[in-house]
Amino acid sequence: MTEDQFIPFHTTDLTGKRVLVLAPHPDDETFGCGGTLALHAEAVDPVRVVILTNGAKGDMSGRYDRNDYIAIRQQETLAACACLGISDVIFWPYEDRELADSATVDSELAALIDEYAPELIYAPSPLEFHPDHRAAAYFTQAAIKLCQMDAALIFYEVGQPLQVDILVDITGVLDKKKQAIQQYKSQLEERPYDDFSLALNRFRSLTLSRDVTHAEGFIRSMDWHPLLEPAVNGYRSWGKKLGAAVKRCLKF
Ligand SMILES: [Zn+2]
Repeated sequence: MTEDQFIPFHTTDLTGKRVLVLAPHPDDETFGCGGTLALHAEAVDPVRVVILTNGAKGDMSGRYDRNDYIAIRQQETLAACACLGISDVIFWPYEDRELADSATVDSELAALIDEYAPELIYAPSPLEFHPDHRAAAYFTQAAIKLCQMDAALIFYEVGQPLQVDILVDITGVLDKKKQAIQQYKSQLEERPYDDFSLALNRFRSLTLSRDVTHAEGFIRSMDWHPLLEPAVNGYRSWGKKLGAAVKRCLKF
């Protein structure tokens, strides 16, 4: 295989499409693909962002009242999306860290896709380690199959870098992405997500020309992946299966 079969040495323009963005939590859309979304907005593409869960469990230090915290995160999302040029933002009330257990999210997603008719859907990848991220990837694929729409599904990077096959040059909208990230003060108090996101974007310019200082990486939808199974069965059942398998191995 040649080098360019492992990673692109060129950038891709994804604009000119009707866009749906699925974010498990309020911030994933900005940290993962905020620059690309800003480019869609600049191109006057219709962009709808749907935040799937309430993000209530992000308050690791327990400083906030639960309802206040949910409201703060929603306000931060609206402010961040405004920085990116996006005003069509919808919040779904699924419980944080429980998306995989939902019996309705795939049919709700299918109804959304039917109604909104996107040409391009962004979702986190099935290789993410957060259970809601992997559940979102699985349910998005399932929903697209349910409605048999001809929408392209592209996975973005949040917690898990990918072997990307699409690179988008975000150098020209980097300031918008930086401003958007800074709206997530409640999250930046917990961890320096700005550094993580922008460092990955800087790294993504590795195979691109010098004038591209930052890029966002994506992979096109892959078929079923074994890592999706624990996402939909939930961690507890997966843990039980794993425990039983380990016990069986120890017997022999
Ligand atoms: Zn998330």
